Amino acid sequence: MQPLANVILKKGKEESMERFHPWVFSGAIDRIEGTLEEGDLVAVLKSDKSIIGYGHCSIGSIAVRIFSFGETIPDNDFWKRRIEKAYLLRQKMGLTDDPDTNVYRLIHGEGDGMPGLIADYYNGTVVLQAHTVGMWLVRVAITEALKAVLGKRLVAVYDKSAKTLPFKADIEAKDGYLFGSSSAGEVVEYGNRFKVDWMEGQKTGFFIDQRENRKLLAAYAKDKSVLNMFCYTGGFSFSAMQGGATLVHSVDSSAKAIALTNENVELNFQGDTRHEAFVADAFDFMQEIKNKYDLIVLDPPAFAKHRNVLSQALQGYKRLNAKAFQQIKPGGILFTFSCSQVVTRNNFREAVFSAAAIAGREVRILHQLSQPVDHPINIYHPEGEYLKGLVLYVE
Ligand code: SAH
Repeated sequence: MQPLANVILKKGKEESMERFHPWVFSGAIDRIEGTLEEGDLVAVLKSDKSIIGYGHCSIGSIAVRIFSFGETIPDNDFWKRRIEKAYLLRQKMGLTDDPDTNVYRLIHGEGDGMPGLIADYYNGTVVLQAHTVGMWLVRVAITEALKAVLGKRLVAVYDKSAKTLPFKADIEAKDGYLFGSSSAGEVVEYGNRFKVDWMEGQKTGFFIDQRENRKLLAAYAKDKSVLNMFCYTGGFSFSAMQGGATLVHSVDSSAKAIALTNENVELNFQGDTRHEAFVADAFDFMQEIKNKYDLIVLDPPAFAKHRNVLSQALQGYKRLNAKAFQQIKPGGILFTFSCSQVVTRNNFREAVFSAAAIAGREVRILHQLSQPVDHPINIYHPEGEYLKGLVLYVE
């Protein structure tokens, strides 16, 4: 891999990168030597011309995402080594050889030293999602590296980057297989079976990041009536059923999501009358649920995608949680989440705290939840912590 240009930083602007933060903001750049196109490999240099590292450039406020620190130019085996490391971590965490769970995230962007790239493993099929043009341009090399690392465990690689690449880049990427092919598949998570449609589904097809939180919910579900709001493919609902809930209602505004949830119920609990699913808007559905549910799950989509809508998003979390606090049965349990990266753990806790105060209920925190081990957070890149959850006991 040969860098195509040198990005030279302003004096004094190298501090965060010297502490291994992978993002170079455009305001930190003094000048560029060479011509640049979106996605090119570049060298990042301090003002004294010493090399900080190598990365992909982008148009936008994050101008370079560094994936390799130090002077050595990344060689042809670079991606293979990175993926080996990522795989080894999942293996050590017991995710690669578990007959009860064959779905996990293999590459989590900055958390695995590959900023701009997500790779999810679905029982043999890897679904790639590039968020930068640089990562999209190396997708063939990444596929070759995946083949080398996973060997027989890899059946197909599907590229689903068309919607995640920055639209300004104007590269008209099309989704499709980079290796092999596989029809939309079935996976198993802690013994629950799920149909996953990576071609048509949201994100890469499944919200892998809630695995451990779903498992925790099962432990609380016995003899409870459960509302799973924002259910998508029904994950929390099956955990509740597995855990012995007496009634489970799954709600999502997407008819496709509800169809998938119903299909998955049939896979796991054929003919089980404890479950019912509804296509509805969350706020409409939660108008009239007083004393109906012992356990409520709120796992909404990211309310804030950008920092400039943060306060609006926090209002959204407050309103939503207030509805749950006002109506959950006495002695109820609330599992509430935010997956907005720009909402900090404290922001979220304050919004939920305000919601509890509006409802005037006595509330205690039982668990503070996060993302699982296959979504690791690079300690030098705290922005990688995006999933926050609270389990609350409501008197
Ligand atoms: N809990 C899920 C993931 C939730 S993703 C899991 O464990 O897999 C968020 C979901 O919220 C999406 O399926 C989306 O269709 C749904 N959604 C978005 N806006 C909504 C609204 N206003 N009311 C109800 N559902 C909504």
